[in-house]
Amino acid sequence: MVLRQQNILESVQPSVREFLAAQPKRLLIDGRWEEARSGKTFETVDPATAEPLARVAEGDRDDIDRAVRAARRALDNEWSAVKPATRGKLLFRLADLIDEHAEELAQLETLDNGKSVTESLYLDIGYAAETYRYYAGWSTKIHGETVPVSPMVGDYLVYTRREPVGVVGVIVPWNFPMLITSWKLAPALAAGNTVVLKPAEQTPLTAIRLGELIQEAGFPDGVVNIVTGFGSTAGAALAAHPQVDKIGFTGSTETGRRVVEASTGNLKRVHLELGGKSPNIVFADAPLDAAVQGAFLGIYLNQGEVCCAGSRLFIEAPIFDAFVGELSKTAAQIQLGHGLEPDTQMGPLVSQQQLERVLDYMEIGTSEGASIAVGGERAGGDLSSGYFVRPTVFVDVRDEMRVAQEEIFGPVVVAMPFGDPEELVGRANGTMYGLAAGVWTRDIGRAHRLAAALKAGTVWINSYNMVDPAVPFGGYKMSGYGRDMGAEALSQYTQTKSVWVNLD
Ligand code: ADP
Repeated sequence: MVLRQQNILESVQPSVREFLAAQPKRLLIDGRWEEARSGKTFETVDPATAEPLARVAEGDRDDIDRAVRAARRALDNEWSAVKPATRGKLLFRLADLIDEHAEELAQLETLDNGKSVTESLYLDIGYAAETYRYYAGWSTKIHGETVPVSPMVGDYLVYTRREPVGVVGVIVPWNFPMLITSWKLAPALAAGNTVVLKPAEQTPLTAIRLGELIQEAGFPDGVVNIVTGFGSTAGAALAAHPQVDKIGFTGSTETGRRVVEASTGNLKRVHLELGGKSPNIVFADAPLDAAVQGAFLGIYLNQGEVCCAGSRLFIEAPIFDAFVGELSKTAAQIQLGHGLEPDTQMGPLVSQQQLERVLDYMEIGTSEGASIAVGGERAGGDLSSGYFVRPTVFVDVRDEMRVAQEEIFGPVVVAMPFGDPEELVGRANGTMYGLAAGVWTRDIGRAHRLAAALKAGTVWINSYNMVDPAVPFGGYKMSGYGRDMGAEALSQYTQTKSVWVNLD
């Protein structure tokens, strides 16, 4: 049966329908929901049907400026007087509200992004709540040190204070909207900063609902401001704004470079989590069923729209054919469909643009001489109006091919055999990226040697795509710098002040 938007919307919670009916969605500036100064709006669509979901305010430079001023005012006034324990309570309350509204938020995320609602519920919404909770606990534990010093003369007490950086601009992508927002918003708020959030134009809806929950949790006006709009206007204005002290960015490597260039005016701090082309390495001695499952989820989770996706699969030569056969068989069985349908395993890509990009890479790979073992095309029939592609495995791939070097950001994996483990390290490290890597083997020595040799911010051994709010996540090389999550992320949102006290 062809997917119809009306039927889909009848299946969602009444609160989702109510939320979508109240249009156009507005910007959150200084505690008020406002239209864009220009009066402009844009449409966000359901990628499973390509039909509109809601109109959303199209914020631009003027609105960013208003939001930044509100964040600055809140920083200098109410927010700086709020005690750490109170910041913690507000974050705990927000985490609880997200849990209370988990179904509703998951349905909204699925409508806007396309992913299966199970993934939305457990990965996006569930982990977002846990991230706010994790940093809620940190609010009362961000402290300096006393430092023993050895001056030539005199006696001094020296201590450090860890102070907020100030106004933080948060720019996030469309692949895990609620989750990646939490990775930046939670530590920024725990450390006492104020925020201007710019969600991706493809998926603005859960950020707007989050804004309502932030108000309900009781955060003072202006502490979190949300400006929906496009990257080249609103995003660029935020990155360039002289009153913004720091940008936390997740997105593509090209856009990351633009953010850095825009940031130079006031030398604002920037931390970047960018693209990847992560190697997932399977040795012949690996637990094979688990490795096939790991390779499968490593690339097909979230339609492959995952920055750390295991998109380069290195398989030890003796098991190559059998492994690819098994993976292809499983890939061919994936149930594509609307993310809200209970038996759907994979939804559509997020947009027409992303669909074209992924289909282009299918052609590029074939024209470079690679062969398609499974997939390789857009899904037709009932799914033809949405942005669905078939899960794809490329074989006959050489390391230097574009499909083996460039981030595709879709359900497309290149599978390559390896013989010599020494050569493997060079091949696995042989892209400009360094976000993540996977190693499947029963040989514990080899696993740890590779964990040390791989140039990647995360290495998973006999697992893939695991994240936790307590574990730092970020890139080597052109996958970015700085880390989200863990205690380490707090250092992105604080600056250290040293205080010298003359005791004489
Ligand atoms: P994609 O190309 O997959 O959409 P991007 O890296 O371009 O990924 O997008 C990630 C986020 O960066 C989005 O919120 C987008 O609006 C924003 N963005 C895009 N271009 C710019 C820019 N020039 N300056 C700041 N932010 C931008």
